[in-house]
Amino acid sequence: MFFDLIACDCLLCGANTTNKLALCEGCVKALPRIINPCACCGLQHSGPPDSLCGGCLVKPPKFNQCISALSYEFPAKQLISRYKYQQQWLYGNLFAQLLHHRLTSHYLDKQTPEVLLAVPLHPSKLRQRGFNQAFELARRLSALSHIPILKGCLKRTTNTAQQQGLSLKQRRSNIRNAFSLAKPVIHHHILLIDDVVTSGSTCNEISKLLLKHGANQVDVCCLARTPDNTIFR
Ligand SMILES: [Zn+2]
Ligand SMILES: [Zn+2]
Repeated sequence: MFFDLIACDCLLCGANTTNKLALCEGCVKALPRIINPCACCGLQHSGPPDSLCGGCLVKPPKFNQCISALSYEFPAKQLISRYKYQQQWLYGNLFAQLLHHRLTSHYLDKQTPEVLLAVPLHPSKLRQRGFNQAFELARRLSALSHIPILKGCLKRTTNTAQQQGLSLKQRRSNIRNAFSLAKPVIHHHILLIDDVVTSGSTCNEISKLLLKHGANQVDVCCLARTPDNTIFR
């Protein structure tokens, strides 16, 4: 899975590594993954493999499926936070490789999306943070997968309050109508990229907009998915 050989120390265990991924092979393999994800929302569930969870049987989200590389638990949670808030670029390569690996196996027997679309930040948040972590992931993933990025199409028009700490109902109303389209959607199958998916409200809202304006399938790909959202449902 991994390329040019250079020596560096693994950022988790400190072991000498011979890959460019900031973590040694052992720590990469030990990162938390979602066991038995629902075929639609991607949450861990106890039904048969590739089946839908109870929540999706009753009320499926607008997106077709949520594919995640990792489970949002220790130490993935801490690594993502360092990448997002401390701009530790060393992790960018690792995260893109994990996403690419996951997507390659997912789309092996399925139609590959036509374009990648990153969940946008509001311009004021982008100025404050300096970069959009979802766009950075999409950019690196595009280079690896050769799927082009759709730019300048989706705008975040409302600077929403932090979703963290809100109930599912509050998250949905917080994010409602927070996005708009700057140009018509000409692609039918879109892969929406985000760093972390928790309740799925943001991806659901964007999917609704894209499906209303020309897309007919929106898949979601995230670096990490919370293993369950029982606290929100
Ligand atoms: Zn290690
Ligand atoms: Zn589900």
